[in-house]
Amino acid sequence: MDRKTNMVDSQGRLKDILDRLRQRDLRITPQRIAILKAFLQSQDHPSVEQVHEEVKANFPTTSLATVYKTVNLLKEVGEILEIGFADGGNRYDGNNPSPHPHLICTRCNKIIDPEVSLLDQLTAEVAETTGYRIDSHQIEFFGVCPSCRGE
Ligand SMILES: [Zn+2]
Ligand SMILES: [Zn+2]
Repeated sequence: MDRKTNMVDSQGRLKDILDRLRQRDLRITPQRIAILKAFLQSQDHPSVEQVHEEVKANFPTTSLATVYKTVNLLKEVGEILEIGFADGGNRYDGNNPSPHPHLICTRCNKIIDPEVSLLDQLTAEVAETTGYRIDSHQIEFFGVCPSCRGE
């Protein structure tokens, strides 16, 4: 998917999400829209703190608590994927909220979405060998990214 298509998609998604939040009688402030946009348009799987920094550039009074609240709303409507880490430094994918594998650089903490072709096959195999109905998965690969390897 090229960047342009992605931008159009994220605008469509922004509208859908705002509609759903309005249906729940939630107040939509320009600040909250800026937070939503920051999560939806970021390719970098940002943390709450990173989004907070970005939004503060235009809305200096934004509190970290407001960003957390917006993340929780996005989680409620199923529009953000949380990538949890044991140390509590969660990161988020607002571009693609459905479960997908992540590749994490253990030096610079960059997170990308690797292309994985055998995921459906793997899921089917797990379902078949265990008898479970698989609803979700969380697959993480850890390694050292090319730019960190080059240093
Ligand atoms: Zn790296
Ligand atoms: Zn992702």
